[in-house]
Amino acid sequence: QHPRSCPAMEATNPLLDAAAIGDLVLLDPLSEDSLLRTLRERFQRGDIYTYIGNVLISVNPYQPLPIYSPEKVQEYHNCNFFAVKPHIYAIADDAYRSLRDRDRDQCILITGESGAGKTEASKLVMSYVAAVSSKGEEVDKVKEQLLQSNPVLEAFGNAKTIRNDNSSRFGSSTTVSSDPPSSGGSPCIAQPMTLPLPTDLLEKSRIVRHVRGERNFHIFYQLLAGGSVQLLRRSQPHSTGSKRGSMGGYAARVCPQDAMRVIGFSPTEVTELLEVTAVVLKLGNVELSSSYQASGMEACSITEPQGRAGDGTGAGPPLLSPCSTPLSWLHPCATPLCTQVKPGKQRKVMGVLDIYGFEIFQDNGFEQFIINYCNEKLQQIFILLTLKEEQEEYVREGIQWTPVEFFDNSIICNLIENSKSGILAMLDEECLRPGVVNEDTFLTKLNLLFATHNLPPQCFRIHHYAGKVTYNVTGFIEKNNDLLFRDLSQAMWAARHPLLRSLFPEGDPQKASLKLPPTAGSQFKASVAMLMKNLYSKNPNYIRCIKPNETKAAMLFTPELVLAQARYLGLMENVRVRRAGYAFRQLYGSFLERYKVLGSRTWPRWTGTDR
Ligand code: ADP
Ligand code: MG
Repeated sequence: QHPRSCPAMEATNPLLDAAAIGDLVLLDPLSEDSLLRTLRERFQRGDIYTYIGNVLISVNPYQPLPIYSPEKVQEYHNCNFFAVKPHIYAIADDAYRSLRDRDRDQCILITGESGAGKTEASKLVMSYVAAVSSKGEEVDKVKEQLLQSNPVLEAFGNAKTIRNDNSSRFGSSTTVSSDPPSSGGSPCIAQPMTLPLPTDLLEKSRIVRHVRGERNFHIFYQLLAGGSVQLLRRSQPHSTGSKRGSMGGYAARVCPQDAMRVIGFSPTEVTELLEVTAVVLKLGNVELSSSYQASGMEACSITEPQGRAGDGTGAGPPLLSPCSTPLSWLHPCATPLCTQVKPGKQRKVMGVLDIYGFEIFQDNGFEQFIINYCNEKLQQIFILLTLKEEQEEYVREGIQWTPVEFFDNSIICNLIENSKSGILAMLDEECLRPGVVNEDTFLTKLNLLFATHNLPPQCFRIHHYAGKVTYNVTGFIEKNNDLLFRDLSQAMWAARHPLLRSLFPEGDPQKASLKLPPTAGSQFKASVAMLMKNLYSKNPNYIRCIKPNETKAAMLFTPELVLAQARYLGLMENVRVRRAGYAFRQLYGSFLERYKVLGSRTWPRWTGTDR
């Protein structure tokens, strides 16, 4: 490639025009200063994308940019990666082509803190794939489903938080698959399916409570603004007004009923789902009063004025009343939402992982602890594959190599997930202890085993890869126990509502089990482990999202904030390793297979060794 034809190398003196550097590997000299300046100057002229080799850095512009048109898609379709300006379409194209031509499962790992642009990035990748994959009736249907699954997932899984007006409160992984190259099917079919993920990664507690300035899941507002009159009349979710502060005004978003239909819900299922949603909403207005019984036990009863919490599902007060003694709060249910299409045999798949980003709030609880643990694991994959294994490979191949230092976060992952002495294991231990348990003993244990910090009461602190986070242990035990009292499950089951029954199969008196369900933490840990295994089996492509300011302001670049992210994302180390190393690698066998047509001695037949 002649340098002139390569936009990444346009400038002769990079320091005079830092913005011209499309790939940070070309920075000279390389320093935090020059890296930051390049990102900033590029950002200010609207170039939000920059590479480190094939890692894409994306800085959130917080305003629509005219760079996602169908013409742009064509420009990047089958382009030469290095001959066009850095763009998320180029990454999507590269991954999608590798899937097809190199016959290897791909994953696109999108990371970054809350509000950095991960979900938008994943939507852009999906829309690109949908635009360039093959045509045909069947394919078009699948594509439509792929695109329509988003509004549904966002309705039930996204909410406004302090960091992001449309924050994903669940982890999602969308997978598309392609026909194998051997079948001659060069165009690819997109097929959405689910990875071993969602439901237990959903932030359920938001349904009951959220902090000031945030909101409940979008679906509740959508339902009020756009649910069918019939449904609203029947369940009257807003007849009592908002009492618990779980609702904070109506949203303009459209209720995704049509999208649900497109992705395969039957009309009855849509109705059932919205009915249950309306009842959950209404339960938010239920008032419980507590009193002490003669036995000394604390008990409570429902005093909701109209006593109609369960209308619309059959789970009315007669059913709910008996189970309201002695219960402290109603546990919300998470609805599993997924389009499940089994991939055909031998299909290669491409997964796009968009998971809730690292969070540091004023108050951090169990949810933040879980979310940050997941991000810690994703960072670990990045470190392992781009920094550690890459260097180890050079050493293995006998290439002269000066090691690049980096922070290995496995120590933090271990601190959380070690099956004996990890924080999650200790929390489980507390949860299993008979008798009255509270968080004090849990905290005492942490302080004893690790370190005592000078912190407000009830708090412990973890120095994550992305910063120090102080967690308040209040609620850890209750949330980890995730207990659903049996009489509640039974009430739900007895309601004779088909969807409720499928959501609470354990409520079936015939199937009563005394087994203790696994804790939320251990379920989460298992999900994360499964996810990691799945990701390790694929060829990774990275999109590292950066949040340029704290106020969601358009085109505002706060250098200190970006520098902090560049540091913990390990961008400098990434550039160093990339610069010293080799950009392209492939096994001899697959290289030969792919390129033998170009050699007079290798084509049409080659009998020697691959090497
Ligand atoms: P995350 O998933 O990382 O929490 P989002 O993808 O939801 O963050 O992005 C937060 C907001 O930032 C979006 O709602 C959108 O307004 C804006 N945004 C993100 N990426 C882009 C982009 N590429 N172009 C324009 N605006 C964007
Ligand atoms: Mg998101």
